[in-house]
Amino acid sequence: MEHANYYHFAGRHAVITGGAAGIGLAIAKRLAAGGASLSLWDRDAGQLEAARTGLGDARVQCVLVDVSSEAAVNQARDATLAESGKVDILVNSAGITGPNVTVCDYPVAEWDQVMQINLRGPFLTCRALAPVMRANDYGRIVNIASIAGKEGNPNASAYSASKAGVIALTKSLGKELAQTGVRVNCITPAAVRTAMFAQMTQQHIDYMLSKIPMARFGMPEEIAAMVAWLASEDCSFSTGAVFDISGGRGTY
Ligand code: NAD
Repeated sequence: MEHANYYHFAGRHAVITGGAAGIGLAIAKRLAAGGASLSLWDRDAGQLEAARTGLGDARVQCVLVDVSSEAAVNQARDATLAESGKVDILVNSAGITGPNVTVCDYPVAEWDQVMQINLRGPFLTCRALAPVMRANDYGRIVNIASIAGKEGNPNASAYSASKAGVIALTKSLGKELAQTGVRVNCITPAAVRTAMFAQMTQQHIDYMLSKIPMARFGMPEEIAAMVAWLASEDCSFSTGAVFDISGGRGTY
Protein backbone atom coordinates (compact mmCIF):
# COMPACT_ATOMS: atom_id res chain seq x y z
CA MET A 1 0.00 0.00 0.00
CA GLU A 2 1.33 3.47 -0.85
CA HIS A 3 1.60 5.77 2.15
CA ALA A 4 -0.67 8.69 1.36
CA ASN A 5 0.26 10.71 4.45
CA TYR A 6 3.48 10.95 6.40
CA TYR A 7 3.96 12.12 9.94
CA HIS A 8 7.21 13.71 10.96
CA PHE A 9 9.09 11.41 13.30
CA ALA A 10 12.59 12.79 12.67
CA GLY A 11 14.44 12.86 16.01
CA ARG A 12 11.87 10.53 17.58
CA HIS A 13 12.82 7.12 18.96
CA ALA A 14 10.19 4.36 18.99
CA VAL A 15 10.10 1.04 20.85
CA ILE A 16 7.87 -1.51 19.12
CA THR A 17 7.25 -4.80 20.91
CA GLY A 18 6.46 -7.64 18.54
CA GLY A 19 8.14 -5.43 15.95
CA ALA A 20 9.76 -8.34 14.12
CA ALA A 21 6.59 -9.49 12.36
CA GLY A 22 3.02 -8.80 11.32
CA ILE A 23 1.33 -5.64 12.53
CA GLY A 24 4.35 -4.57 14.61
CA LEU A 25 6.63 -4.75 11.58
CA ALA A 26 4.16 -2.77 9.45
CA ILE A 27 4.14 -0.11 12.18
CA ALA A 28 7.94 -0.14 12.24
CA LYS A 29 8.03 0.52 8.49
CA ARG A 30 5.50 3.31 8.74
CA LEU A 31 7.29 5.10 11.60
CA ALA A 32 10.67 4.65 9.90
CA ALA A 33 9.21 6.14 6.71
CA GLY A 34 8.49 9.26 8.78
CA GLY A 35 12.09 9.39 10.01
CA ALA A 36 11.86 7.63 13.39
CA SER A 37 14.71 5.53 14.76
CA LEU A 38 13.56 2.22 16.16
CA SER A 39 14.15 -0.37 18.85
CA LEU A 40 12.36 -3.58 17.92
CA TRP A 41 11.67 -5.70 21.01
CA ASP A 42 10.83 -9.29 20.11
CA ARG A 43 11.55 -12.83 21.27
CA ASP A 44 12.24 -14.21 17.78
CA ALA A 45 15.91 -13.61 16.88
CA GLY A 46 15.60 -14.83 13.28
CA GLN A 47 12.58 -12.65 12.52
CA LEU A 48 14.29 -9.68 14.16
CA GLU A 49 17.26 -9.93 11.81
CA ALA A 50 14.97 -10.34 8.81
CA ALA A 51 13.01 -7.28 9.92
CA ARG A 52 16.20 -5.22 10.24
CA THR A 53 17.20 -6.20 6.71
CA GLY A 54 13.73 -5.35 5.40
CA LEU A 55 13.87 -1.92 7.01
CA GLY A 56 16.80 -0.96 4.81
CA ASP A 57 18.39 2.36 5.74
CA ALA A 58 16.37 3.01 8.87
CA ARG A 59 18.23 3.21 12.22
CA VAL A 60 17.12 -0.02 13.87
CA GLN A 61 18.21 -1.62 17.14
CA CYS A 62 17.07 -5.22 17.65
CA VAL A 63 16.47 -6.28 21.25
CA LEU A 64 15.77 -9.91 22.09
CA VAL A 65 13.23 -9.89 24.91
CA ASP A 66 10.34 -11.86 26.31
CA VAL A 67 7.89 -9.10 27.27
CA SER A 68 6.35 -11.23 30.00
CA SER A 69 9.62 -11.20 32.00
CA GLU A 70 10.14 -8.22 34.30
CA ALA A 71 13.93 -8.64 34.33
CA ALA A 72 14.09 -8.97 30.54
CA VAL A 73 11.91 -5.88 30.00
CA ASN A 74 14.02 -3.78 32.36
CA GLN A 75 17.18 -4.98 30.59
CA ALA A 76 15.62 -4.09 27.23
CA ARG A 77 14.82 -0.61 28.54
CA ASP A 78 18.42 -0.14 29.67
CA ALA A 79 19.80 -1.42 26.34
CA THR A 80 17.46 0.91 24.45
CA LEU A 81 18.38 3.96 26.52
CA ALA A 82 22.08 3.16 26.12
CA GLU A 83 21.52 3.28 22.35
CA SER A 84 19.05 6.13 21.96
CA GLY A 85 19.14 8.13 25.19
CA LYS A 86 15.34 8.49 25.16
CA VAL A 87 12.09 6.89 24.10
CA ASP A 88 9.34 9.02 22.54
CA ILE A 89 7.00 6.29 21.31
CA LEU A 90 6.04 2.86 22.68
CA VAL A 91 3.86 0.52 20.64
CA ASN A 92 2.83 -2.70 22.37
CA SER A 93 2.16 -5.21 19.58
CA ALA A 94 3.66 -8.47 20.94
CA GLY A 95 0.91 -11.00 21.50
CA ILE A 96 -0.34 -14.55 21.05
CA THR A 97 -3.82 -16.00 20.55
CA GLY A 98 -3.84 -19.10 22.74
CA PRO A 99 -5.94 -22.15 21.83
CA ASN A 100 -9.44 -21.94 20.32
CA VAL A 101 -11.36 -23.93 22.93
CA THR A 102 -14.24 -23.20 25.28
CA VAL A 103 -13.76 -21.85 28.79
CA CYS A 104 -14.68 -25.27 30.18
CA ASP A 105 -11.90 -26.94 28.17
CA TYR A 106 -9.26 -24.19 28.54
CA PRO A 107 -5.95 -25.52 29.91
CA VAL A 108 -5.01 -23.37 32.90
CA ALA A 109 -1.32 -23.16 31.93
CA GLU A 110 -2.26 -21.85 28.48
CA TRP A 111 -4.63 -19.29 30.00
CA ASP A 112 -1.78 -18.08 32.20
CA GLN A 113 0.60 -17.82 29.23
CA VAL A 114 -1.83 -15.69 27.21
CA MET A 115 -2.29 -13.36 30.17
CA GLN A 116 1.46 -13.18 30.81
CA ILE A 117 2.31 -12.13 27.28
CA ASN A 118 -0.76 -10.13 26.23
CA LEU A 119 -1.50 -8.26 29.47
CA ARG A 120 1.46 -8.54 31.83
CA GLY A 121 3.72 -7.70 28.87
CA PRO A 122 2.18 -4.27 28.10
CA PHE A 123 1.96 -3.57 31.84
CA LEU A 124 5.69 -4.26 32.25
CA THR A 125 6.73 -2.22 29.20
CA CYS A 126 4.52 0.72 30.22
CA ARG A 127 5.86 0.47 33.75
CA ALA A 128 9.44 0.51 32.44
CA LEU A 129 9.09 3.27 29.82
CA ALA A 130 6.33 5.62 31.01
CA PRO A 131 8.65 7.13 33.66
CA VAL A 132 11.27 7.75 30.94
CA MET A 133 8.66 9.58 28.87
CA ARG A 134 7.30 11.49 31.84
CA ALA A 135 10.79 12.71 32.68
CA ASN A 136 10.97 14.23 29.16
CA ASP A 137 7.37 15.44 29.41
CA TYR A 138 6.69 13.83 26.03
CA GLY A 139 5.51 10.42 24.94
CA ARG A 140 3.02 8.47 22.87
CA ILE A 141 2.00 4.97 23.97
CA VAL A 142 -0.16 2.89 21.62
CA ASN A 143 -1.39 -0.50 22.80
CA ILE A 144 -2.67 -3.02 20.25
CA ALA A 145 -5.79 -4.47 21.90
CA SER A 146 -8.50 -6.21 19.82
CA ILE A 147 -12.19 -6.13 18.99
CA ALA A 148 -12.17 -9.41 20.94
CA GLY A 149 -11.52 -7.34 24.06
CA LYS A 150 -14.76 -5.41 23.53
CA GLU A 151 -16.96 -8.26 22.31
CA GLY A 152 -15.59 -11.45 23.89
CA ASN A 153 -15.12 -13.93 21.04
CA PRO A 154 -16.34 -17.47 21.75
CA ASN A 155 -13.51 -20.04 21.91
CA ALA A 156 -10.99 -17.28 22.64
CA SER A 157 -11.69 -16.40 26.26
CA ALA A 158 -8.13 -15.83 27.46
CA TYR A 159 -7.32 -13.74 24.40
CA SER A 160 -10.52 -11.71 24.75
CA ALA A 161 -10.03 -11.20 28.49
CA SER A 162 -6.38 -10.23 28.04
CA LYS A 163 -7.34 -7.62 25.43
CA ALA A 164 -10.14 -6.27 27.66
CA GLY A 165 -7.39 -5.91 30.25
CA VAL A 166 -5.22 -3.99 27.80
CA ILE A 167 -8.14 -1.60 27.17
CA ALA A 168 -8.54 -0.99 30.90
CA LEU A 169 -4.76 -0.63 31.41
CA THR A 170 -4.79 2.02 28.66
CA LYS A 171 -7.62 3.92 30.34
CA SER A 172 -5.94 3.85 33.77
CA LEU A 173 -2.50 4.91 32.55
CA GLY A 174 -4.00 7.54 30.23
CA LYS A 175 -5.71 9.20 33.18
CA GLU A 176 -2.63 8.89 35.41
CA LEU A 177 -0.51 10.74 32.83
CA ALA A 178 -3.19 13.09 31.48
CA GLN A 179 -1.56 16.20 32.90
CA THR A 180 1.84 15.35 31.44
CA GLY A 181 2.98 15.37 27.82
CA VAL A 182 2.42 11.60 27.56
CA ARG A 183 -0.64 10.26 25.68
CA VAL A 184 -1.78 6.66 26.05
CA ASN A 185 -4.27 5.12 23.64
CA CYS A 186 -5.21 1.74 22.26
CA ILE A 187 -6.72 0.34 19.10
CA THR A 188 -9.13 -2.55 18.67
CA PRO A 189 -8.57 -4.20 15.26
CA ALA A 190 -10.75 -6.94 13.84
CA ALA A 191 -8.94 -9.81 12.11
CA VAL A 192 -5.82 -8.99 10.10
CA ARG A 193 -4.13 -11.74 8.11
CA THR A 194 -0.68 -12.26 9.65
CA ALA A 195 1.35 -15.25 10.84
CA MET A 196 -0.89 -15.15 13.91
CA PHE A 197 -3.58 -16.92 11.85
CA ALA A 198 -1.43 -20.07 12.07
CA GLN A 199 -2.23 -20.15 15.80
CA MET A 200 -6.02 -20.28 15.17
CA THR A 201 -8.43 -22.89 13.87
CA GLN A 202 -9.95 -22.32 10.41
CA GLN A 203 -13.35 -22.33 12.09
CA HIS A 204 -12.31 -19.42 14.30
CA ILE A 205 -10.86 -17.47 11.34
CA ASP A 206 -14.14 -18.00 9.43
CA TYR A 207 -16.11 -16.82 12.48
CA MET A 208 -14.08 -13.60 12.69
CA LEU A 209 -14.50 -12.87 8.98
CA SER A 210 -18.25 -13.49 9.18
CA LYS A 211 -18.49 -10.70 11.78
CA ILE A 212 -16.86 -8.01 9.60
CA PRO A 213 -19.41 -5.95 7.59
CA MET A 214 -16.74 -5.08 4.99
CA ALA A 215 -16.42 -8.85 4.43
CA ARG A 216 -12.62 -8.77 4.29
CA PHE A 217 -9.66 -8.92 6.64
CA GLY A 218 -7.78 -5.77 7.57
CA MET A 219 -4.27 -5.21 6.25
CA PRO A 220 -1.27 -4.60 8.53
CA GLU A 221 -0.60 -1.34 6.64
CA GLU A 222 -4.11 -0.08 7.48
CA ILE A 223 -3.45 -0.71 11.16
CA ALA A 224 -0.06 1.00 10.88
CA ALA A 225 -1.68 4.09 9.35
CA MET A 226 -3.92 4.58 12.41
CA VAL A 227 -1.05 3.89 14.80
CA ALA A 228 1.11 6.47 13.00
CA TRP A 229 -1.38 9.21 13.85
CA LEU A 230 -1.71 8.01 17.45
CA ALA A 231 2.10 8.01 17.73
CA SER A 232 2.41 11.52 16.31
CA GLU A 233 2.43 14.95 17.95
CA ASP A 234 -0.94 15.59 16.31
CA CYS A 235 -2.52 13.17 18.75
CA SER A 236 -2.59 15.71 21.54
CA PHE A 237 -6.15 15.78 22.97
CA SER A 238 -6.87 12.04 23.04
CA THR A 239 -5.74 9.87 25.92
CA GLY A 240 -7.04 6.73 27.59
CA ALA A 241 -9.07 6.24 24.43
CA VAL A 242 -10.04 3.18 22.40
CA PHE A 243 -9.92 3.53 18.61
CA ASP A 244 -11.93 1.15 16.43
CA ILE A 245 -10.42 -0.32 13.27
CA SER A 246 -12.64 -3.26 12.45
CA GLY A 247 -14.22 -2.93 9.00
CA GLY A 248 -17.50 -1.88 10.61
CA ARG A 249 -17.73 -4.58 13.30
CA GLY A 250 -17.21 -2.29 16.26
CA THR A 251 -19.62 0.63 16.15
CA TYR A 252 -19.21 1.76 19.73
P1 NAD B 1 2.29 -11.93 14.71
O1 NAD B 1 2.27 -13.31 15.29
O2 NAD B 1 2.43 -11.75 13.24
O3 NAD B 1 3.41 -11.05 15.42
C1 NAD B 1 3.54 -11.05 16.82
C2 NAD B 1 4.98 -10.76 17.18
O4 NAD B 1 5.05 -10.74 18.61
C3 NAD B 1 5.97 -11.83 16.69
O5 NAD B 1 7.09 -11.22 16.08
C4 NAD B 1 6.35 -12.58 17.96
O6 NAD B 1 7.67 -13.12 17.94
C5 NAD B 1 6.20 -11.48 19.01
N1 NAD B 1 6.00 -12.01 20.36
C6 NAD B 1 5.10 -12.95 20.75
N2 NAD B 1 5.25 -13.20 22.05
C7 NAD B 1 6.27 -12.42 22.51
C8 NAD B 1 6.88 -12.24 23.77
N3 NAD B 1 6.52 -12.95 24.84
N4 NAD B 1 7.90 -11.35 23.86
C9 NAD B 1 8.30 -10.65 22.77
N5 NAD B 1 7.76 -10.79 21.55
C10 NAD B 1 6.75 -11.66 21.42
O7 NAD B 1 0.92 -11.28 15.22
P2 NAD B 1 0.17 -9.94 14.72
O8 NAD B 1 -1.02 -10.37 13.97
O9 NAD B 1 1.13 -8.98 14.12
O10 NAD B 1 -0.34 -9.37 16.12
C11 NAD B 1 0.21 -8.20 16.69
C12 NAD B 1 -0.74 -7.68 17.77
O11 NAD B 1 -1.98 -7.34 17.17
C13 NAD B 1 -1.04 -8.72 18.85
O12 NAD B 1 -1.08 -8.08 20.10
C14 NAD B 1 -2.42 -9.21 18.46
O13 NAD B 1 -3.15 -9.70 19.56
C15 NAD B 1 -3.03 -7.94 17.89
N6 NAD B 1 -4.14 -8.17 16.99
C16 NAD B 1 -3.98 -8.99 15.91
C17 NAD B 1 -5.07 -9.22 15.09
C18 NAD B 1 -4.95 -10.14 13.91
O14 NAD B 1 -6.00 -10.59 13.41
N7 NAD B 1 -3.75 -10.43 13.40
C19 NAD B 1 -6.30 -8.61 15.35
C20 NAD B 1 -6.42 -7.79 16.47
C21 NAD B 1 -5.33 -7.57 17.28
